[in-house]
Formats: sequence, C-alpha cells, structure tokens
Amino acid sequence: MAHVMFGGLTHAPAVELCKKLVEITPDNLDSVFLADSGSVSVEIAMKMALQYWQAKQQPEKTKFISLRNGYHGDTIGAMSVCDPVTGMHTLFSDILAKNFFIPSPECKFGEPCQTEHIENLNTTLEKHHASVAALILEPIVQGAGGMKFYSADYLQQAKSLCEKYNVLLIADEIATGFGRSGKLFACEYAGISPDIMCLGKSLTGGYMTLAATLCSKEISQTISDYPPHVFMHGPTFMANPLACSVALASIRLLQESDWQANVNNIEQMLIKGLKKCSQLDDVEDVRVLGAIGVVELKNTVNMAKIQQAFVDVGVWIRPFGKLVYLMPPYTIEQRELNTLTNAIFDVLNNGKHL
Ligand SMILES: *Cc1c(COP(=O)(O)O)cnc(C)c1O
Repeated sequence: MAHVMFGGLTHAPAVELCKKLVEITPDNLDSVFLADSGSVSVEIAMKMALQYWQAKQQPEKTKFISLRNGYHGDTIGAMSVCDPVTGMHTLFSDILAKNFFIPSPECKFGEPCQTEHIENLNTTLEKHHASVAALILEPIVQGAGGMKFYSADYLQQAKSLCEKYNVLLIADEIATGFGRSGKLFACEYAGISPDIMCLGKSLTGGYMTLAATLCSKEISQTISDYPPHVFMHGPTFMANPLACSVALASIRLLQESDWQANVNNIEQMLIKGLKKCSQLDDVEDVRVLGAIGVVELKNTVNMAKIQQAFVDVGVWIRPFGKLVYLMPPYTIEQRELNTLTNAIFDVLNNGKHL
C-alpha cells in the first residue's frame, strides 16, 4: 500500500521502526510519534509538553525556555524557540510567541560547568517555572545557530534543574542523532534521558523525509488518560510506510557498520586536517567533535566568493555567516576528507572568502 493514514490503523514498518527507536534511544523514551520533518517534530514536542500540562491540570505552563544560539526549525512554533538573532527568523519576530532565552552555555565541551555557567538557567527557572512547560535545547552540539559544542556537565545540571522545578526537558537531537557527535545520541555524553526527544535528518540517511518525537510513558499515558484521550496532532503522511522502511534499513546499516570507529576516524582526520587553519589571521577558532568539523572565522564570509572558490577546487562546501563546517557521511574515505580539509585551508589561506 502506498500510504496508510496512521490514525487508528497501523502497519509493520511503523511498528518495527518505533520498537527500534525505543530500543536504541536513552531509557525512559518509550512512546513514539512519527512525522514528516524535523521542524514538525519540534512542533509536536512543544504540543506534547503543552497537552501534558493541561492533562496535569496546570494549563498555565505554556512558555518555553531555550538557549541563545539554538536552532530548532522554521515553522512558527519552532521559530519561537530559535535564537532571535542567529536563528534566521528576525523578519517574523513580531508574531512569534514570547519565550525565555538564556545565554548559550559558556562552558565548552570537555570542561566542567561551574555555578556561574548554569546561573542564568537556575534563576530563570526559579523565577518563571510556574509558567514554563519545557526547556528545549540541542544537547552538546548547537548546530545551525552557531556550531558550538558545550559541556556535558551543563546538560546534566540542566536536567536536574528541570526536575527540581517541574519543567520538562526536550532534547532536539535532529542534527546530533545517529552517531554524529561521537555517541549514538548526544544525551549519552551526560548520561541523561530527556522527557521528550526529536529525531530527523539522518533518521533515513537522507533518502526520504521522516522525523520522530519520542517521549516518556508518563507523558504519553497522562495525555491518553485525560480528555480528548489522544494527542491532538495528525499529519497526513505521518508514519509513511516507505519512509519507515527506509529508516529501518538505514538504522540497520548503521548498526551493522562499525560506525563508532568510522566516526572516531573522521574525528581524528578532521582534527589533523583542520588544525593548520588555526594559524590563519582571520580564523577565530577550530573545533571538532565526532564527525563535525568547524572553522569559525573572525568575519562573515563573502558567500558568493567563497562558494565559487570551493567550486573552483572541485568541492561542495556551504558555509554560513562566520562558519565553515564539514559534516561528512560516515562512509567518506580518507582521501576524500583530505580533499575537503585541504580545500578549506587553501581557500581561507588565499583570502578567497573575503
Ligand atoms: C535541521 C534541524 C531542525 C529542523 O529540521 P527540518 O527537517 O529542516 O525541518 C530542527 N532542529 C535541529 C537541531 C536541526 O538541526
């Protein structure tokens, strides 16, 4: 069958995929909602949190806390939790719901999180928890809003604070899921289970559009127990059978491969290949985590020039703002990755980004 409307009906690929996702994601994430894109999975996560608090007779919990430099998608709800400046949505700021923003974590990946690093989150929760439904963040790696890697300790403390203040934690693993950060899911670095998790991007290895929102049994059961006894979201193409089959095949390939070794190798090659960029005058920082390599410049690149320069040396790399980055497929070969890192060094060294 080409498609089954996934309301009251089910099918094998969806059942198998949901079981698989529950199995491989952190403990406590036992229910799955399938949708068609990452942004929609974020809308769903936010609606789950809101419907949960309504069912708990706390309908005043309607706000979200989010981190500066965060990126969660382009739909209206998702835009309201993206960084108001780097989130690329300034045109729409007037009509977006007003949420709370706290500074991007200053403690870097691998470093401890001191009291002053978590102070903003602490005070925001202390002051506003009664009106806050959830904290939403990208665990460990902030992607499109700044390509920053932050302390696992911060994530752990954020989770504890959410528990203390009765606020849900939504982990947006759309960019980090399936090994990208060096762990299967970035939450594993902090050993935490969020209440809700969003997956997308590499869920299907890029071959079909599909996303998933997972949540705890506590959330799904609370929603089910309270009128209208269903989660109020039902996109036409949710759990599209072909997309579910593709996701299952992609996860099988990932699990059958030695993805951990591949990602570690890519990490080592990125470190080696990009290190020399840090000696360039215009380079602010070079950082690598898992299969993510970032060269942050001091100034915004000239997009037209830098893209042409990359095309001229035979590579396709798309920077944004001050960031030139690589997130290669895990099957990339050493020679190919060297071509990419050398291209970045050559283009920046020759000032072709200015
Ligand atoms: C890409 C991305 C999204 C949005 O997903 P789309 O499939 O583009 O709608 C949301 N959150 C994060 C962290 C992303 O990287």
